[in-house]
Amino acid sequence: MTRIFDNDLDTSFGTRAIHAGQRPEPLAGAIMTPVYLTSTYVHDAFGQHKGYEYARSKNPTREALERNVAALEGARHGFAFASGTACVDSMMKLFKAGDHVICGENVYGGTFRLFDRLLKNLGLCFSYVDTRDPERIAEAWMPNTVALLAETPTNPLMRLTDIAAAAEIAHGHNALLIFDNTFATPFFQRPFEFGADIVFHSTTKYLNGHSDMIGGIALVQDDALAERLQFIQNAAGAVPGPFDCWLALRGTKTLHLRMPRHDSNGRRVATFLAELVGEENVIYPGLESHPQHELAKRQMTGFGGMISVELGTRERAGEVLNRTRIFSLAESLGGVESLISHPASMTHASVPPERRAQLGITEGLIRLSCGVEDVEDLLADVQQAFS
Ligand SMILES: *Cc1c(COP(=O)(O)O)cnc(C)c1O
Repeated sequence: MTRIFDNDLDTSFGTRAIHAGQRPEPLAGAIMTPVYLTSTYVHDAFGQHKGYEYARSKNPTREALERNVAALEGARHGFAFASGTACVDSMMKLFKAGDHVICGENVYGGTFRLFDRLLKNLGLCFSYVDTRDPERIAEAWMPNTVALLAETPTNPLMRLTDIAAAAEIAHGHNALLIFDNTFATPFFQRPFEFGADIVFHSTTKYLNGHSDMIGGIALVQDDALAERLQFIQNAAGAVPGPFDCWLALRGTKTLHLRMPRHDSNGRRVATFLAELVGEENVIYPGLESHPQHELAKRQMTGFGGMISVELGTRERAGEVLNRTRIFSLAESLGGVESLISHPASMTHASVPPERRAQLGITEGLIRLSCGVEDVEDLLADVQQAFS
């Protein structure tokens, strides 16, 4: 069981980001958690070991990461996976054929693809719902509904779900409330404080923050639920390697330094874009023109660096995508460097065109991930590319 150390929650966020889950290494006292490159552990004697038997089940580097991120989300347990997608796949193994899951309609394209192309064939049922409206969530409930899974803010339309309202509905039905907190990170939003049961991340994005690994992590409060997830983590085996865990652990040490900069750059770029292309075409929860700005202020303490812009046509989008110099044309987000992408043909290409159109992921929509460069350079790049 990957329980955080008792004193890890007594400190404030930045101190936890640097220290939680970690202890000096016992042989030499190395301050950095080593990369435990091993598949197995030698027993002291027959029937006696140090709590480690085989590295799919437990790895000290992985445990340090799990405890660290658990402390940041304010959770008791963490379980790391080989990717954010592997994390979703493993969480779905909590359920069985015939169970129904309500899913936010604008989840990450890969999450939709996993549900629609693979897990549906194994007998799980999914409904895709506009979770901006709690009434729609309540209406989607069926006798076999076991969970609600949503992102807030969503990728790429930056739509919000009222976590507390969703918790009330889910718990009224004894179902699990699962939130993808990849976009906001625990620095700006802690879904457990509003009633979530499981919070998960693609650590690939802001938590690692340096665009050099792929990973996922699920955080849980409830001990019994944690025991089931730990069983799945070992039994299904979608675990991350120790070096990727070490990279993510290095990343979280600066989460509290990076996020304020992503946020201030995001606000400046969004405001500037609103002047250039009209505020009705810029989707950013930190803008007063965002229809859910009030909810954003209520459940988030910052808005981050993700901005979407509607440019009307694929041609216009293509022009901008080809012109930026600092914003690199690439999938992914949340790294120190700024990226720009075209959701319809990149991250959300796995969503069928009719569904994309219905949601508002148009051919003219582009998505920016503002990095932590000097903001004047980002503004100059946006100016020359968009005007
Ligand atoms: C990237 C992403 C995922 C999937 O994570 P991988 O690490 O790429 O498998 C899930 N949710 C969100 C919001 C993402 O941005």
